[in-house]
Amino acid sequence: MSHERILSAESLLHLPTSIPLVDQLGGDAIWKYFAMCLETPRPSSKLDQIRAKVTGVADRLGLVHKTDRAGNVLICKPATPGYEHVAAVALQCHLDMVTSKNEGVEHDFDVDPIRVRIDGDWLKAESTTLGADDGIGVAACLALLEDIAPERMELEGRSHKDKREFVHPALELLFTADEETTMSGAMDIDPELLKARLMINVDSEEQNSICIGCAGGFEKILLLPVEWAENGDDAAALSTPGTFTLLSVHLKGLLGGHSGAQIHEPLGNGIQLLARILSNTIDAAPAGADVRLAAYKGGTAINAIPREARAVVAVRTAHVAEVVTLLDTAFASVVRGRYTLEQEPNAVLAVATMSGSDDWHRTVPTPLKVVEDELGESPAFAAGATNARLCALTPTSTRASLDYITSLHHGVIYKSREVEGLVETSIAFTVAQLTDSGLYCHLFARSSNDAHMVEVSQRLDESHGASWWEAHGLTQLAETAASRINGKTLQKFGPTPALNGFPGWMPNPHTDLLKSTRSAYESEYGVQPRVYAVHAGLECGFWQRTFAGMECVSVGPEVAAAHSPDERLEISTVRPFMRVLRATLDLLCRQ
Ligand SMILES: [Zn+2]
Repeated sequence: MSHERILSAESLLHLPTSIPLVDQLGGDAIWKYFAMCLETPRPSSKLDQIRAKVTGVADRLGLVHKTDRAGNVLICKPATPGYEHVAAVALQCHLDMVTSKNEGVEHDFDVDPIRVRIDGDWLKAESTTLGADDGIGVAACLALLEDIAPERMELEGRSHKDKREFVHPALELLFTADEETTMSGAMDIDPELLKARLMINVDSEEQNSICIGCAGGFEKILLLPVEWAENGDDAAALSTPGTFTLLSVHLKGLLGGHSGAQIHEPLGNGIQLLARILSNTIDAAPAGADVRLAAYKGGTAINAIPREARAVVAVRTAHVAEVVTLLDTAFASVVRGRYTLEQEPNAVLAVATMSGSDDWHRTVPTPLKVVEDELGESPAFAAGATNARLCALTPTSTRASLDYITSLHHGVIYKSREVEGLVETSIAFTVAQLTDSGLYCHLFARSSNDAHMVEVSQRLDESHGASWWEAHGLTQLAETAASRINGKTLQKFGPTPALNGFPGWMPNPHTDLLKSTRSAYESEYGVQPRVYAVHAGLECGFWQRTFAGMECVSVGPEVAAAHSPDERLEISTVRPFMRVLRATLDLLCRQ
C-alpha cells in the first residue's frame, strides 16, 4: 500500500508534521508516551524498564510517585486549584503487554522495540503484538499529566486562558503489573495505595463504549476413578497378539474460542463431542466388538474452548471395519446434528488403525498417584514406553468415563438482568485427560456475581462427587482406588475446592461516575455510548474487593485483535478518547 510507512518508535517521537497522516499522530502527548511504550520492552514480569520510564515522567514533572511491593506504580497529581474539595479520581492501566508474534518472525520481546506502521487509519506492529493493550492506556494516563500544557490547547484550538476546559479533581494514576498473566499487581496491591473511590480503568478496546462489569472466576479439577483391565481373562485377552486392534480417533478442526467471552456462541467442545461420538458408537456396536478406552486427551488451555480431542480405543480385531463405519455415522449425527456447516465448517473425525510401533503402548499401570501428579501424559500417548503391553479400561470404566465427560456442564448458566445480552454465569469444560489413576477434567467457572460462584462450586461438588459414582455403581472402585493412594482419602476423587479464584465486578448502571462518563461520550460523539459488561476477567473486580465502595468504569480507544500479531489501534479514535477522559474529569468537578 502506497501510504504505508515503516516507523521506528524513535522516529514517532520526532514525526515530520508535514505529512498529513503522521501529523494526525504527532504533537499530542498521548502519542509521545505511546511511542515511549513501544520502545520499552514490557513483557509481563519484566517491567523494570517501563516502571523506570513512567516514574521518570513523574520526576520530570515534579509529581509524587510510589511503587508498591506488587510492582504497581502510583503517580499523584493535585487537583486544579479551586477543585481540591472534589472527590479524587483514580485512572488505571497496566504496564505489561502480551508477547505474540507470527511464526518465523525474529523479534525478542525482552530487548527489541515494537516496530510499527500506519495502514490507513490503523497503527499496527510488524508481525507482533502492538501492545496498545495496554500501552495506549499508559500513554493516556501520562498524557493527562501534561493536559494543561499550552501547546496542547493550541493544538485543539483552545485559548490559554480557557482553563475551565481542563479542570480536574486530584488524580491518582495507577499503573499495574502483570495483568496479562497472573493479575498479581491487582491481586496483591497495597490496600493503602489508593485513596480515590472513583476509578476509570483505561484498558477497554471499543470506542464510544463504557464497560461497567466483568466476570470473576475459579477453576475446578475433577477426578473420576477408573479401572484398567489388569487382571484375569480381560487382561489376558488384551495381551494376546491380534485379539484387539487399536484405533486412533481424532476429532479436530473445531473453531474454538474464548472460554468466557464466547461461551454463549454455538462452538463445539471437542472433548464432549468426541465422548458423545464414542458413546453412540459403543451403543450401536455389537457386544462382541468390546470397545474400550485406552487413552483420552482434549483441550490445551483452561481459557480456550477445546478445538480438538483424541482418543485411542481398543476394539476386537474382527469388528474393526464395523466400528470404523459406526464412528463415521456417529460423527455425522453428533457434530452435524448440533452444528451447521456455517457454525463448524472444518470439523473432521480422523480414524486410523495404529500399528505396533505407534505410541499407544502402555507400561503396567503404576500405583495411583495424587492429583497434583496427574498433569503428565496419558499413558497410552507416552512415547518410548518399555515392557509395553496393551492396556485399556474395563468396559464399566469406559462407559463411566464417557458418561462423566458428557454429563459435565459446558455453557451458560445465568444471563444478567441488569445488562441485556450479558452472560452472568457460565462453566467451561476445557481440558480432559485419562491418566493412570483416573479421568482428569478441568473446568473454568465464571460469574460477575460472587454469590453465583459459590453456587456453581457447590453444584459441581454435589453433581459430580461421590453421588455421581454411587449412581453409576462405582463406589467400590472409588474406595479401592482411594485405598491404594497411601493414606489419601476418598476426597481425592471428585471435585477439588475452587482453585485460583478471582473476583467479579457486578454491573451497576446507576453510579454518578457512569453518568459523567456517559455525558462526556455523548457530547463527543453526539450519540449515547454503548454501556456493556464482559464475561471475562478484568482488574476492576479486584478494585471493588480491595477498596470498599469503589465505583469503576472501563474505557479506551478502538483496539482490534488484541493479544494477536494482528493487534491494531484505530488512530482517529485516540484524540476523541482523550477529550472524553478530560471531559469526564471536568464534569465530575462541576457536579
Ligand atoms: Zn489489557
